[in-house]
Amino acid sequence: MGSLVKTGFLIAALAVTAGCRNTEVSRSVPGNTSAPAAVMSTQNSNDTRVAKDVFGYLPTASDQRSESFGGYARGCQAGAVQLPETGPTWQAMRLSRNRNWGQPVLIDYVQDLSRFAATLPGWEGIYVGDLSQPRGGPMLTGHASHQIGLDADIWMLPPDRLNLNRQERENLSSISMRRERGAFTNSSWTEQHMQVLRAAASDPRTARVFVFPGAKVAMCDWATGDRSWLNKIRPWYGHHYHFHVRLTCPAGASGCENQAPPPAGDGCADAQTWVNNILNPPPPDPSATPRTPRGPLTMARLPAQCLSVAESN
Ligand SMILES: [Zn+2]
Repeated sequence: MGSLVKTGFLIAALAVTAGCRNTEVSRSVPGNTSAPAAVMSTQNSNDTRVAKDVFGYLPTASDQRSESFGGYARGCQAGAVQLPETGPTWQAMRLSRNRNWGQPVLIDYVQDLSRFAATLPGWEGIYVGDLSQPRGGPMLTGHASHQIGLDADIWMLPPDRLNLNRQERENLSSISMRRERGAFTNSSWTEQHMQVLRAAASDPRTARVFVFPGAKVAMCDWATGDRSWLNKIRPWYGHHYHFHVRLTCPAGASGCENQAPPPAGDGCADAQTWVNNILNPPPPDPSATPRTPRGPLTMARLPAQCLSVAESN
């Protein structure tokens, strides 16, 4: 399947998830925390405010029980938790962005992955890139997704120290792992990268891991024995300075919209097709429908609970 076909499929998939909405006026959420649930409301149906201008400046999490609303690229998060800036096996990078917030399951996951990485030679743990904004939602810069507190970017740069100060975390750059525009890995790529990615994908909380196509093919060649984890390793554009982990909606999170799971199988033939298309780009598909720009997401296009998340204490 070529990348144009993929893109078309992605757009179709996004359109499908835009369809149905829970129309209950309010609903109770499992759990016994004292924080209030985000209330379903229809007040935002005419709200033409640009959502990134609302969510891009909210400095703290909402005082609500933890919950994701909507989909990865069109939603928000209530009751987010902040990943501590430094832990025994991780550091959050680019603190000025204030994007080290996620649902509790994501914060646990990142810490678990970091503990595994720290067992590998050359890795003191992981450097953690963007998670989500304190209340999720669209961002002023970068990322279409990362909106519901279930996405995390993990740097490809193996940490050799975890005592970077604030300024160093602004200035330090990750390193690229690709050559030939992502068809192949470069000399910075190591077996340890594959072990971290395998651990990331093998976790039952994971829905997908996005990485450049050459890395997936390298892992297809490397994998022995159980190859089922390769199913969740998805070739994608970019993703050579970091890889991106996307978790599934937590059980019982009824306002959270999962993506359809990846197609069955290890996806290795598909990844090889991506690589072939990088090396020998196919002519443009004349039947491909051009992407229609829809403009920035407005508050009205987010789940109704996101107004409550934005307005909560
Ligand atoms: Zn990402």
